[in-house]
Amino acid sequence: MKPVLVLMNGALRLDDHPAFATACSAGAPVIPVFILDDTAAGDWKLGGARRWWLLKSLSSLQATLLKAGSRLVLRCGDTIDCLKALISATEASAVHMTRAYDPQARTVQDAVHDVCNELDVVARRFSGNLLLEPEQIRNKTGGIYEVFSPFWRRAQELIDDTEPARVPVQVLAPEKWPESDDIATLKLEPKPAYWAESIEAFWEPGEAAAHERLDDFLDDVVLAYKDMRDYPATDATSRLSPYLANGEISPRRIWHDTMIAIADNKEIERGAHWFLRELGWREFSSHLLYHFPDIPERGLKSKFDAFPWREGCDEKVAAWQKGQTGFPIIDAGMRQLWQTGWMHNRVRMIVASFLVKDMLWHWRTGENWFWDTLVDADLANNAASWQWVAGCGADAAPYFRIFNPITQGEKFDPKGKYIREFVPELKDLPDAYIHAPFEAPAGVLKMAGITLGRDYPKPMLDRKAARERALAALESTKGA
Ligand SMILES: Cc1cc2nc3c(=O)[nH]c(=O)nc-3n(C[C@H](O)[C@H](O)[C@H](O)COP(=O)(O)OP(=O)(O)OC[C@H]3O[C@@H](n4cnc5c(N)ncnc54)[C@H](O)[C@@H]3O)c2cc1C
Repeated sequence: MKPVLVLMNGALRLDDHPAFATACSAGAPVIPVFILDDTAAGDWKLGGARRWWLLKSLSSLQATLLKAGSRLVLRCGDTIDCLKALISATEASAVHMTRAYDPQARTVQDAVHDVCNELDVVARRFSGNLLLEPEQIRNKTGGIYEVFSPFWRRAQELIDDTEPARVPVQVLAPEKWPESDDIATLKLEPKPAYWAESIEAFWEPGEAAAHERLDDFLDDVVLAYKDMRDYPATDATSRLSPYLANGEISPRRIWHDTMIAIADNKEIERGAHWFLRELGWREFSSHLLYHFPDIPERGLKSKFDAFPWREGCDEKVAAWQKGQTGFPIIDAGMRQLWQTGWMHNRVRMIVASFLVKDMLWHWRTGENWFWDTLVDADLANNAASWQWVAGCGADAAPYFRIFNPITQGEKFDPKGKYIREFVPELKDLPDAYIHAPFEAPAGVLKMAGITLGRDYPKPMLDRKAARERALAALESTKGA
């Protein structure tokens, strides 16, 4: 039999991988392929942190496939050119892909279909990265849901209990393997190199690690998820986002295993349902991106097109990016992002609100920084979340909601544990001043060994004035 090429892009796993499983079950030789096509990704070429993750993830998948008697063929360049060469070298009869929802990857997948048609090769797209396909869910008038709660109510009615596709027991190898590029030629090492080292200490990419993390979460952490998920100093969320973003675990696997865990232990039901609801937000964001493909660039609410965003000067933007704003919870969050490639969700909201509301900078300034530095950078989740905070997105935060970094810190990091971890120069400040060192009496600062402006920055803005400025500007979007 002629071989089947399986494009592993977007789904770097063997479990619950319908495109791969169907190819294996057909009894034909299977050739797993990954093509890095930076040009097709355009402005949304993978950022540094995701490239580091991809490097590790591809190595891990290579090792898993080798154990299964198979290989991962790597190519770098234009997808269509690479694919044509592979089809010609292997005489493949079919190309399988996992369906993508972002506009760049959809364009590539459409082109793959066209070229396969020309070459008389079967092209098939399989689901695998969402619980529901975007065409499956419509509101009562046949339109697209733009509000999360009714979307999620309807989604839960539609999600069925289909078992995730199992890891194939046999992966037939072709008689002759096509050539593969060396992983080093993909140039995935981020710069500067020390940045990767710092991220590496926090993560273990790969499918096996994803499953381990899910199991640990369901065994223990999920019980208190609803109550603790907003406290950044606790390890109270799943941290599955980079594994999902890189396709190392499927949402159906997460859904299925969570349902089994609930059936085994009713006590976790409350936390588990709240966790699945977060997975629902991921679903909602991907559906939005599918139906409104320009959301990474443009607010969903057109009233914001003329909004007077201020230009961020390089120096101040850099202070936000590197956690030098003078507001401890923001600095802790931005430093957590830089050091680990991840930031707690509550803190993402606080730092984002500061950027778009206090500073009145365009939300894309933040979106782009997150895109480069998050190991879980995801076009849909990132764009939808930034728009949610800015107020220009679907089901967005109201224009007048401006997070106060001091009270948010007091509420969600009451003892300043999170701040002390990422902003160690403040570690000796008493709890009463940890969220606002600029309010501490001179004697207290001296005792803690801090001179503001030398050891830790003075606040980069007057929050009261910034809030009034933001409210005046945002007033124009009232009811948007
Ligand atoms: C400004 C901003 C930018 C963001 N950018 C991204 C991004 O690029 N990639 C990304 O995956 N998430 C993004 N998020 C959403 C959220 O912060 C992360 O998904 C979450 O912190 C990941 O941690 P976790 O896996 O422990 O989440 P858990 O709380 O364990 O949630 C489980 C899963 O649900 C999904 N999820 C959770 N919250 C959200 C949400 N608000 N929107 C969409 N999906 C969600 C994620 O896939 C997550 O892994 C952003 C949020 C904000 C406020």
